[in-house]
Amino acid sequence: MAKYVFVTGGVVSGLGKGITASSIALLLKARGYKVFMQKFDPYINVDPGTMNPIQHGEVFVTYDGCETDLDLGHYERFIDEELNYTSNITSGKIYKSVIDKERHGDYLGATVQVVPHITNEIKNKVYEAGNTSGANIIITEIGGTVGDIESQCFLEAIRQIQYEKGQSDTFFVHCTLIPYIYGSNELKTKPTQNSVRDLRNLGIRPDALVCRAPFNTTQAMKEKLSMFCNVPVENIIDSVDVKNIYDIPINYYEQKIDEIILKQFGLDVREANIDYWKKLIKTVDNLKNEIEISLVGKYTELHDAYISVVESLHHAGYKHNVKVNINWVDSEQLEKDADLKEVFKNSKGIIVPGGFGSRGIEGMIKAITYARENNIPYLGLCLGMQLSVIEFARNVCGIKDANSTEFNPICENPIIDLMSDQKSVVNMGGTLRLGNYECSLLKDTLAYADYKKDKILERHRHRYEFNNKYKDVLEKHGMVFSGMNEQANLVEIIELPKHKHFIACQFHPEFKSRPTKPHPLFDSFIKASKN
Ligand code: GLN
Repeated sequence: MAKYVFVTGGVVSGLGKGITASSIALLLKARGYKVFMQKFDPYINVDPGTMNPIQHGEVFVTYDGCETDLDLGHYERFIDEELNYTSNITSGKIYKSVIDKERHGDYLGATVQVVPHITNEIKNKVYEAGNTSGANIIITEIGGTVGDIESQCFLEAIRQIQYEKGQSDTFFVHCTLIPYIYGSNELKTKPTQNSVRDLRNLGIRPDALVCRAPFNTTQAMKEKLSMFCNVPVENIIDSVDVKNIYDIPINYYEQKIDEIILKQFGLDVREANIDYWKKLIKTVDNLKNEIEISLVGKYTELHDAYISVVESLHHAGYKHNVKVNINWVDSEQLEKDADLKEVFKNSKGIIVPGGFGSRGIEGMIKAITYARENNIPYLGLCLGMQLSVIEFARNVCGIKDANSTEFNPICENPIIDLMSDQKSVVNMGGTLRLGNYECSLLKDTLAYADYKKDKILERHRHRYEFNNKYKDVLEKHGMVFSGMNEQANLVEIIELPKHKHFIACQFHPEFKSRPTKPHPLFDSFIKASKN
């Protein structure tokens, strides 16, 4: 029987609830328990796949092809477990499923209501994770802030779970803010007291508070919070601002949050296997050198739009003992008469990540030309691969009007074209080529040297593909197609052997990188950039 940890947030958004949930999960795993994580998002979209990355940030893709919130990326990076479609539930998904059931006649005779029909559906998603994941402990984060209209039904559902399962099977962590007031120069507990009162008005009593503050709270403040919030004083955990998010699990470990949870659950507090994480932090804190990598994209105004790419660059940096500094380059700016030499003057590598639509495309192509002509290590991800072949077709093979039908549906030379099984697709949501697909690697290539195996599985999120009609001409001019999906005959990886390091893939390797296990493509990219 699984036990359930719920993580809620109060006072303001952006407190790092996702990192708190991930850190707790990491510690419980380190104590020898199998953990599984999920996130509830209160918005009406069925998934974030149709949202603008500049508003919502990255869409993280699970191996089974679910488009999810970027917090799932943190979860996977912290706990090093692959999550799945049961891990990200939105209001849209819940309502859609209830309405489908209503139309099907599953509730015949009943008036379908938020309580109990919507709340039951939410509870089922929690219990489904408990029953199907094989985990001892499920950690569920509730998106939004207590008091939001949107998240009420999620809070009501987890209140019912607290009632049904009791204290020995549930643990509620409430993340709040302790602001510092300049002038009177003190930390203030009142917003936390108010937010716990809001939570208790909804019937939920938190078992622990995680207090985000610029520095640790005093014992006297903890006692005050304890008294006003009905939370034992030792269950009040400080979460001070850190330089590096990977420090947080250790901060919580020192305050014994994992022990507190396990004791409430009546589970053994086994010895924690945490040294590997402490070693990682030591590495991160003592990186010898720095390098600059240019990230050329169209969503650069919100860095969270590329969070997994950025983390993957850092992970590879940890392995090669370099701090990676990102030079954020808005591709649209490169389309005007930007001085590329100036833009890239300090960059040791250039990366073009994923994206959709035609804005900023020609700027990315300019950056790719610059990387190719100046022998600067290049890594292209998804759109970054599609544009690399367009660039090569135009500037090396002389196919001047080479393009993708995504940007010009009637172009004469569609080097990138809609996949055949996409041609009949009408709905935009959830219909891309998503999740794991196999890729076979060609021997004696950079890709093979990176992965050191014949077949790999990588996660995808795209609608367009390389048009095989152009394979011969590109090959003749020196491009190597080093990774192929054999079932569908799709190009997955391209490279330029004459170049110092030029490789691009149709999939998203950034979803599989871990702080202690950098992804092979990022590993070799940083290695090449460092040299
Ligand atoms: N827009 C491209 C496609 O749909 C690339 C997608 C991406 O970069 N994720 O195929």
